[in-house]
Amino acid sequence: MLAKWQGKNRNNRREIHDAFRGRLHNRVEDCIGCISCARKCPVECITIEIERAGRDEDLGETRNVLHLKDGATIVGIVEGDEKLAPDTNHERNTNHEKKTTVTIQDLEGQTHTYPSDQVESIIARRKKRTRIVQYDIDMSLCMFCGLCVESCPTECLTMGSKREDSAFSVYNLEDLISHFVEPPVEETEAQKGEVEVSNN
Ligand code: SF4
Ligand code: SF4
Repeated sequence: MLAKWQGKNRNNRREIHDAFRGRLHNRVEDCIGCISCARKCPVECITIEIERAGRDEDLGETRNVLHLKDGATIVGIVEGDEKLAPDTNHERNTNHEKKTTVTIQDLEGQTHTYPSDQVESIIARRKKRTRIVQYDIDMSLCMFCGLCVESCPTECLTMGSKREDSAFSVYNLEDLISHFVEPPVEETEAQKGEVEVSNN
């Protein structure tokens, strides 16, 4: 007879420690291809391939990252002067008190406004001049030192902080390679044939 044991606290998941470092993620649409992360990596587990934009090509800008003093972080677009240091925009409200706010529209399109004295820092937008052709991280080599994250000027490279961000593979170390850019879809011979047929 097979014995089955379930810990009595099976559903009581322990809190993740504040210092937990999980799998890396690149918000690649805000990556400027500076290669700083790959240069800093002591074990060379980041592979990047970039392509310079054409002279008249506009690849847009990266987004802001707003850090609040309570530790919260919001990615989005700051309205107004993003370079304005908190506490320096001295508007006055009807009671003639200083009133300085920072407004950001987050990735879901929600607008948030905070008194500037709650704002720790704002990462400024940057013009993108390179296209990211390949961005891979081999988590089977990564030692979770965080040097790559610290060096990222747009803060698009982040480390997971949840239990689900653990990096492990039961079957295949290849599963631990994260590809952040989809390779271009190769046209198969069958698809080429379909195009030719539809053109006739
Ligand atoms: S956290 Fe991993 S990928 Fe980043 S620098 Fe350290 S070893 Fe390299
Ligand atoms: S440091 Fe950041 S912006 Fe630069 S290539 Fe790495 S992920 Fe992209």
